[in-house]
Amino acid sequence: MSKHDDNAVSDRPTNFIRNIINEDLAQHKHEMVHTRFPPEPNGYLHIGHAKSICLNFGTAADYDGQCNLRFDDTNPSKEDLEYVESIKKDVTWLGFEWAGDIRYSSNYFDQFYAYASELIEKGLAYVCFLNAEETREYRGSLKAPGKNSPYRDTSPAENLALFAKMKNGEMKEGECVLRAKIDMASSFMCMRDPALYRVRFEHHHQTGDKWCIYPMYDFAHCISDAIEGITHSLCTLEFQDNRRLYDWMLEHLNDFNKPDRPHQYEFSRLNLEYTVMSKRKLHQLVDDNLVSGWDDPRMPTISGLRRRGYTAASLRDFADRIGISKVDSMTGMDVLEAAIRDDLNKIAPRTMAVMDPIKIVIENYDGDIESIQAPIHPQNEAMGKREIFFGKELYIDRADFQEVAPNGKFKRLALDKEVRLRNAYIIKAVRADQDEAGNFTTIYCTYDPETLGKNPADGRKVKGVIHFVEASKALPAVFRIYDRLFSVENPAKADDFESVLNTESLEVKQGLVEPGLANSEPEKAYQFEREGYFCRDNQSGDVQVYNRTVALRDTWAK
Ligand code: ATP
Ligand code: MG
Repeated sequence: MSKHDDNAVSDRPTNFIRNIINEDLAQHKHEMVHTRFPPEPNGYLHIGHAKSICLNFGTAADYDGQCNLRFDDTNPSKEDLEYVESIKKDVTWLGFEWAGDIRYSSNYFDQFYAYASELIEKGLAYVCFLNAEETREYRGSLKAPGKNSPYRDTSPAENLALFAKMKNGEMKEGECVLRAKIDMASSFMCMRDPALYRVRFEHHHQTGDKWCIYPMYDFAHCISDAIEGITHSLCTLEFQDNRRLYDWMLEHLNDFNKPDRPHQYEFSRLNLEYTVMSKRKLHQLVDDNLVSGWDDPRMPTISGLRRRGYTAASLRDFADRIGISKVDSMTGMDVLEAAIRDDLNKIAPRTMAVMDPIKIVIENYDGDIESIQAPIHPQNEAMGKREIFFGKELYIDRADFQEVAPNGKFKRLALDKEVRLRNAYIIKAVRADQDEAGNFTTIYCTYDPETLGKNPADGRKVKGVIHFVEASKALPAVFRIYDRLFSVENPAKADDFESVLNTESLEVKQGLVEPGLANSEPEKAYQFEREGYFCRDNQSGDVQVYNRTVALRDTWAK
């Protein structure tokens, strides 16, 4: 069975794009699959881009094909090398490899110019001097057809000369544009003589000052696809109408008007609850200092998710879970969190951290500090053991103690009640000191020395288990607990999206971690037992700062 056979491809769920590919391969329209991911380097990638990356690179890989990384860099005013670098890093981190060299639309500026000239020579493009307002007026509306520009019938020879003048810097910005000559009465607005080139005296991060005319997306994108031999050009639904223009362009250029030319297919974009995905809005959050940067762990950016502790595997799994369709929808945060939880549950080493410490003194313990071997992962012995410590002074979490146990199932520490310290002994609280405000400051306990790793011999049942750290060995640490960035499900719909920011999206706590975390690596996941999944922050140097990736249980499901 060849890889191209329907069932041999992969165990991924199929989707309408795979069906199209299967059909194209069966009909020998294409002999292999070649996709591309075409980001505009005008911001950092977000989780919506991750969906597109997984689709483009993942589909190519499943069919033994290729996927290009192409920077769609035709608008120099908003682009920057910083974004180019971050995009390369994010794609690689997600686990994908682009075919050959990185491509830039700007690599093809000479070819674009030649193809535009071909359209002019064929009487299919003209230089138009209507100003912006006139152009709008002439375009008509969804209800009314447009009217032809007075410049529409200029001769090809004259248009070629005018286009050359545009290129040579003899036209001012906004003075004229090159337009395709299609149909001013088309029911698709994008077919009403769309602009192909405009004048911009801008420095470009790849081509420097060589050009002062820049091509429009609809002209550059299809030609770039065709030059690179892309077979399936996958984009989001808002380009549905533009498919007519994509096809028109390639069908009217001699080099590309062939059965195996690229075709565009649209899928629905990812929308995620409680966040925004528009680059303009993400820019605004960064520029207005409402987050610490593009990689703030509350941002839906790939760099933010990475810093927060999301793994590449969990984002790829998330993409599989949401699937590909043509129906616009809003994905719940619980889907994303289920993907990371399932991954981290398997791979994250277990450790203990106390985020709101209260001191415990074991009154009947007088020995040296005791070393205990605790499992790194209780369900996976192969991950080995870690060293933890027990001694006279310990810390537990303030929430794990109450003076009087409430009725019923209180499984924590209370006066005269026993509880097990995770990986260590059973202790019982005897009395507690309080400060003037009534807060407990120290809890005095006894421990049962016969209960390390075993139940009491007399058969008494101790149900609760709480986590702890030994006082002298524990390391001070800062914990950043993140909540949703916005307080409403669809912030993009708010008149002012900044007004619906969740003002409590970050809570900082000071506490203690096991000494084994002294050299924890940034971005590497841990399960802080009973607390959640955390990773060391990648920008806090030697200070022990941990970002909460996700809580242990779902707090989002409705
Ligand atoms: P803009 O063009 O406004 O700067 P964009 O989000 O379209 O923003 P691009 O860099 O053009 O950004 O996107 C690169 C690719 O990622 C495109 O093919 C685009 O369709 C896809 N993409 C962008 N946002 C999403 C999303 N939310 N879900 C799925 N794919 C997306
Ligand atoms: Mg775009």
